[in-house]
Amino acid sequence: MAEAETTTEVEATPDPNLLETLADGTKIKRRVARQRACNEPLKKNICAGHLKRWYEFGDDVKAHLGPGGEVYRCERCQTLYLPNREETPRTGTLAF
Ligand SMILES: [Zn+2]
Repeated sequence: MAEAETTTEVEATPDPNLLETLADGTKIKRRVARQRACNEPLKKNICAGHLKRWYEFGDDVKAHLGPGGEVYRCERCQTLYLPNREETPRTGTLAF
């Protein structure tokens, strides 16, 4: 029985959750549902830093945020994460 061939496409595949890269290199990504840790690929592993609510953003970041200005930042690599839409309750920020 032949072994199934697995291909790693970590480098070739663009991150589907990457929304924007700011001028200073900061990435803005969309959190996938229930994501609590950073999934940025580092040298051999993923970053896995904790995502924390972040408030000290400037206007360049603010321009990418939705109503409520909710953003999270990885404590290790400083990648920014926007909340996942499917996770947001149907009250508050999505009401219009
Ligand atoms: Zn990270």
